[in-house]
Amino acid sequence: MKIHEYQAKKLLLDYGIPAPRGGVAATPEEARRIAGELAGQVVVKAQIHAGGRGKGGGVKPAAAPDEAETAARSILEMQLVTHQTGPEGKKVRKVLVEEASAIRKELYLSVVVDRSRGRECVVFMASEAGGMDIEQVAATAPEKIVKCAVHPAVGFSPFQARKLSASLGLDAGQSRQFAEIVRNLYRLFLEKDCSLVEINPLAITEPGQLLALDTKINFDDDGLHRHPEIRELRDPDEEDPLEVAAKNAAVNYIKLDGNVGCMVNGAGLAMTTMDLIKMAGGEPANFLDVGGGASAEQIEKAFRILTSDPNVKCILVNIFGGILRCDRVSAGLIQAAGKIDMKLPMVVRLQGTNVEEGRRMLQESGLRFTVADGLYEAAQKAVSLIGS
Ligand code: GDP
Ligand code: MN
Repeated sequence: MKIHEYQAKKLLLDYGIPAPRGGVAATPEEARRIAGELAGQVVVKAQIHAGGRGKGGGVKPAAAPDEAETAARSILEMQLVTHQTGPEGKKVRKVLVEEASAIRKELYLSVVVDRSRGRECVVFMASEAGGMDIEQVAATAPEKIVKCAVHPAVGFSPFQARKLSASLGLDAGQSRQFAEIVRNLYRLFLEKDCSLVEINPLAITEPGQLLALDTKINFDDDGLHRHPEIRELRDPDEEDPLEVAAKNAAVNYIKLDGNVGCMVNGAGLAMTTMDLIKMAGGEPANFLDVGGGASAEQIEKAFRILTSDPNVKCILVNIFGGILRCDRVSAGLIQAAGKIDMKLPMVVRLQGTNVEEGRRMLQESGLRFTVADGLYEAAQKAVSLIGS
């Protein structure tokens, strides 16, 4: 799960990591009021679940409250496009108005879970070359990013903070601040079950203090049941509406960019189905696992989710009836088709428990669909129906 910068900065402050004072606004007038309270220079920042806002025009300085209002007005009306949003961009609904800082230098600091490392999988990364071009640095000069893995049984040690800070060209006072920040960051990361905490830039301000000017925090969804206070930070506006509907219907759905809508039971079969669609020259529109215990109602909901994606041009139903019997799948499909005006071609492959009954129900339902016996055959038929 992702959260907004203004929420993430509150968490940093809770953990004793310095961040600028500020407030969040949904209207230009609110932005003006906050700027008035802060007094002096401010920065107005678009709040969306994506980075690269600076380069996209989503971060603007303002010298006075009326300038902050003007900046907020232009940002709040934006469909902000950054390298992380895709070409369609994201609608900005809130801005963060915070005290501006005079920046001497921009550092980079993050903690991530790096599964490729096995046991020592929590890794700190730091770089003297922080700021908006960090992706460029990672691609062309990776040696400028210093990494440090933490063994879970040993925990984070002060010498690791020294190793990181030695690479950043800090003076003695800044090194002490940095060690404190890293220690607190690790505490935050563990206690809140994060999967990523990134501070970029971690600025050295003009008086020489370290300050988190931007931050991004992601959480491990499997840890969220332990953190009601984090779950409250969820912003459904930032999530794909189809994925939200799927969560509510308890089906595992991930939207993708292709046009063959898939309805499958079991994650493994769903992955295989996607692979075979690709092999047949097509692109899957989604991953969808209706699960083993799905009811006819859940099948219907899944079907509605599938068909409300405008990219879907053909539906491939691939069910291996085990605990989820084929007749129940057919009942769900027939129930859904009765309620939705379905014009899309559909390929159905049913095998396993109660397959005869399931096929008979479909045959007698008057639904139009193409039958396939084999898995690859089903994928080929679905792809060719789109081509025709
Ligand atoms: P991002 O582009 O989405 O990562 O947004 P950031 O919050 O990192 O802002 C982008 C850039 O704006 C930063 O790298 C800074 O150079 C600049 N910036 C952000 N806040 C301030 C500030 O308070 N003062 C100054 N001078 N620059 C800032
Ligand atoms: Mn940033």
